[in-house]
Amino acid sequence: MGSTFTVINPSTATAIREVPRHSVEEVDAIIAKAARAFETWRTVAPGDRARLLRRFAAVVDEHNEELARLEVENSGHTIGNARWEAGNVRDVLNYYSAAPERLFGRQIPVANGLDVTFKEPLGVIGIIVPWNFPMPIAGWGFGPALAAGNTVVLKPAEITPLTALRLGELALEAGIPEGVFNIVTGSGSVVGERFVTHPLVRKLVFTGSTDVGKGIMRGAADQVKPVTLELGGKSANIIFADSDLERAAATAPYGVFDNAGQDCCARSRILVQASVFDRFMERFEVAVKGVRVEDPSLDTSEMGPLITRAHHEHVASFLDGANVAFRGVKPEGPGFWMEPHVLIAESNDRCFTEEIFGPVVSVMRFEDEADAIRIANDSIYGLSGSIWTNDLGRAVRVARAVESGNLSVNSHSSVRYWTPFGGYKQSGLGRELGPDALDAFTETKNVFFDTQH
Ligand code: NAP
Ligand code: MG
Repeated sequence: MGSTFTVINPSTATAIREVPRHSVEEVDAIIAKAARAFETWRTVAPGDRARLLRRFAAVVDEHNEELARLEVENSGHTIGNARWEAGNVRDVLNYYSAAPERLFGRQIPVANGLDVTFKEPLGVIGIIVPWNFPMPIAGWGFGPALAAGNTVVLKPAEITPLTALRLGELALEAGIPEGVFNIVTGSGSVVGERFVTHPLVRKLVFTGSTDVGKGIMRGAADQVKPVTLELGGKSANIIFADSDLERAAATAPYGVFDNAGQDCCARSRILVQASVFDRFMERFEVAVKGVRVEDPSLDTSEMGPLITRAHHEHVASFLDGANVAFRGVKPEGPGFWMEPHVLIAESNDRCFTEEIFGPVVSVMRFEDEADAIRIANDSIYGLSGSIWTNDLGRAVRVARAVESGNLSVNSHSSVRYWTPFGGYKQSGLGRELGPDALDAFTETKNVFFDTQH
């Protein structure tokens, strides 16, 4: 059989396990199996499909601690985050388990007959997941996909496959039939690419970098295959002089350094109104130095290591010659550790325009509301962002003016499984989660029944 890939613990730089690298032939066999399973899964009675998804959610919940520990080991996530992530898979499954009995079509008035629309599943859905949030991002795809009656082939990132593999086992344990939910390990260039080119994969859900996402979209065009894309970000945290500056400064580190900054929603540009810049920076420095960067398996840990040595080098390249205002702390020893960094940036600096995907934030002054909006929108990305102000009118104006899919006012929250998530501009295409995500996993069929003959 084919080769294997060595999975590494990023906190200790030690090997954990060998995972298969599937060949194109093996991928084709799994896709064929998923296509066969579709023929029966789509006919499972709505109430039964709902019950199976709720059982899957319950089994995930029973294994929350195991899944969380596995993510700490494979991805260096803090245990607190990892428990939330496994809980998010459960919640997404429960939320979409309400869908099978509610996939309503419409009855539309017509002469001489009956016109009805049906929401029909597409077939095999190919889900390609990045390494930064292996569990939630997988679940945002497979939860609604399965609920709508599709079958799934899921490719985790090669370096973080362990929780996806376990979720595949738990699905079977919960009674999800063989072939309905398939985990396919291996590289993007082999497994991911085959999802794009295989005609039986009827839709792609891709989360990852903008460059790879563009390639997926180009490839999908060949078969007019629909895509949902969740791509990069360079989100702004906009802090106005009239905000609660203490809270804005105390929370800003967690808006960017969560998951060591390896978060597509990281508020990696902080825009501060000039009149409060110095006051903000004083308080922000205290907060950054207080971030607990330590062994992610400790309950007190707030930030773990970066994912790989190569990624550490990539992030460090942004620090060469940068104007560093101050740094946080990091532990000594092996592992791909980096302390939080705060940079003072000019608008054309690489650190201010490119997604760094590490614990590096760039701060810039702005003069007034129009200036803040202009700087925030001066980006190819538009995923997330925060606005800090106590002026209600300003909050509404700025929230409407910032070109971004997910904004929070006086907080840094981006993701709730029951609200839509996705990006403007080059941050993505389509929306996941929330009440409308099922539309991305169904085709609308219109049927006219002639009643005259
Ligand atoms: P990536 O390099 O684009 O990889 C993402 C996934 O695509 C991996 O599973 C990868 O496989 C696979 N892949 C790579 N090349 C492929 C190809 N030619 N065809 C098909 N699949 C291919 O991204 P990453 O470095 O893992 O993740 C970081 C990026 O994800 C950041 O840009 C981040 O902003 C973005 N992200 C976005 C969101 C969002 O919701 N908008 C959420 C999280 C992350 P292998 O790695 O196994 O080879
Ligand atoms: Mg990559």
